[in-house]
Amino acid sequence: ADVKKEYAQKCKGSIASYERAKKVIPAGLEHNLGLLNPYPLTMKTAKNASIWDVDGNEYVDYLMGGGPIILGHKVKEVDDKVISFLENYGPSTGLTCESEILCAEEIAKHVPSVEMVRFLASGTESDLLAIRLARTFTGKTKIIKIMGSYHGWSDQMLLSPDRPGTGNGHTSGIPKECYMHTIEVMPNDFDGLQRIFNENKGDIAAVLAEPTGGHAGTFPNHPDWNKTLRKICNDNGAMLIFDEVVTGFRLGMGGGQEYYNTMPDITVMGKIITHGYPSCGAVGGRREIMSLCHPGGLNGKSAYTGGTLSANPISTTAGYHSLKCIEKYHAIDKASDYGDLLTAKLNELFATRGDLPFFAYNIRSIVHVETACPSGTFLVKDSRNVSDDEQKLRSKAAEDIYIALMNEGVLLLGDCKRMYTCMQHDETTMNKTLAAWEKVISMIPA
Ligand code: PLP
Repeated sequence: ADVKKEYAQKCKGSIASYERAKKVIPAGLEHNLGLLNPYPLTMKTAKNASIWDVDGNEYVDYLMGGGPIILGHKVKEVDDKVISFLENYGPSTGLTCESEILCAEEIAKHVPSVEMVRFLASGTESDLLAIRLARTFTGKTKIIKIMGSYHGWSDQMLLSPDRPGTGNGHTSGIPKECYMHTIEVMPNDFDGLQRIFNENKGDIAAVLAEPTGGHAGTFPNHPDWNKTLRKICNDNGAMLIFDEVVTGFRLGMGGGQEYYNTMPDITVMGKIITHGYPSCGAVGGRREIMSLCHPGGLNGKSAYTGGTLSANPISTTAGYHSLKCIEKYHAIDKASDYGDLLTAKLNELFATRGDLPFFAYNIRSIVHVETACPSGTFLVKDSRNVSDDEQKLRSKAAEDIYIALMNEGVLLLGDCKRMYTCMQHDETTMNKTLAAWEKVISMIPA
């Protein structure tokens, strides 16, 4: 079946909008999450766990804004607080606002390793500050990054974000010198990690890692990996930085560090902490580390931080009230229960087609659907053994499945068929999702 043709029929409004956008916006879209589509969807409205495009098509939404939404779309309890703030103050004053303190208190209350919080405008900036703090605190330079993980689009961190082992970056325009102090290790390569520390004695400032494994668990961690990172950092006077931009307030109120029972020195946050409101990013940690953000610093050391819209009162108002709602409505557990059920049901469905190497796995409300590797081989998806041609085939198959699901009214994160669940997904969305997958796999010849 020509899934793109069907898509083009259903999405004429989105296509017109895309053609118009292309004249003034490079590539016709700003948000890279829409890149996989032949014609990026233009959305019209969203509510609970659903989204409607300009053509009136309804989708069960598992993109969830790329991760920030766990309460569902349009939460009146949060939106009313933001509107009331706007009516009283307008969007920005540059002065401290109570919501900033409340939001920082709320984060510090829940995230076990965090005593103090500095807000920034994005996850990318927050990763940058975390690295700067680690270097300032330790007086060391090099940062170890796990291949296949994403820590924003800064010059020093955009190495091998998608295919571990290939050394491929996303982009041109980064002089190789920018990676001079970034050392990469393959996921779950315990010996390689030790070797890097041995070869760079006294020079490793930090290991930066997603506690799930790269890209929210697309490259899942060995069960001992996080604890090993913690130990090797302790043994070598390096900082452990957890990038909890996705996992913060998604795996639990205490994030991935609580879920995996491993405490980092520095925590990077984003996404859920402002429930999709801009600007969104934060760094947290122990007082002795975070105090270095002060312009006067600590003992003469100071990690400079800027940002006109950092700690913007709209974002911290939304942040404080949405974190309160997440706790009050048990949003994390509800989204996770749905994630568990969806994973089990998808695997039941895939098992009805024994010839397809499809399987689903989840880390609470982060559901991954693998459509390329044989079941059981996912622990390290080592792209070094995958030829460029094979990779192209995999990407093409993934794209077709993604579009076919969209034709059936189910929206995923395009790149790796990740699905974020929220507390508003229910029996109706489950039934629609399973029916869509059933139809899509029936389209694949035996
Ligand atoms: N770190 C992780 C783990 C992410 O998933 C992302 C974004 O998806 C970032 C950092 C960058 O955050 P932002 O897009 O807010 O710059």
